[in-house]
Amino acid sequence: MRVVFLGLPGAGKGTQARLLSEALEIPQISTGDMLRQAMADGTSLGKQAREYVESGRLVPDDLVLGLIAERLRNPDAARGFILDGFPRTEEQAKGLDGLLVKTGTRLDRVILIELDPVVLADRLGKRRSCPVCGAVYHLESRRPEHTGVCDECGGQLVERPDDQPERIRRRVEIFKAETAPLEAYYDRQHILARVAGDGDIADVQSAIRSALGPGK
Ligand code: AMP
Repeated sequence: MRVVFLGLPGAGKGTQARLLSEALEIPQISTGDMLRQAMADGTSLGKQAREYVESGRLVPDDLVLGLIAERLRNPDAARGFILDGFPRTEEQAKGLDGLLVKTGTRLDRVILIELDPVVLADRLGKRRSCPVCGAVYHLESRRPEHTGVCDECGGQLVERPDDQPERIRRRVEIFKAETAPLEAYYDRQHILARVAGDGDIADVQSAIRSALGPGK
């Protein structure tokens, strides 16, 4: 299964991709997580990406495409993968199609998780995440057992710098301008499925599994 998750920031892509990755035993590939890791490690990619990521703007297509091309060559992606937060522009979507053509494969499904922007601002404002393992929490609906500490690895939870209100607004604007056109792009390929993202986590996951087809 080769799957892409599309949706506004805060729609639940990361949470849902993680669950699906465990269920299907294929990797979750999040360009946001990879970029944050590169920034934490101080690599040259991390240094180039920092100003974009922290201000909520998109990292240039060539950098992100290079990152994905390298990641998809990893043997763990041979059986399939879930892309979370990539592609975000039509240029990236075309680049991804090109990479897959070279390996004689294609995307099976693109899941668009739909969410009201008002719900989203609340979710992001109360989001806390673990910089060590990437686990995501919410101050009300998914609280860690001990305040400020990751249940999974004991890391110190942080608020992402790009989850501040004016940066959230910028990310929503960028989504509408750059990423929303991908809905039509994948609809034309007949692989787009829309799933409502406002239910609880398990309900959204089962809607996603149904959208992937029988036995998933
Ligand atoms: P995310 O964790 O998916 O919300 O991504 C956080 C930030 O990383 C975004 O606001 C962008 O600055 C950057 N980023 C992640 N994925 C991409 C992508 N596919 N294209 C460009 N920038 C990206």
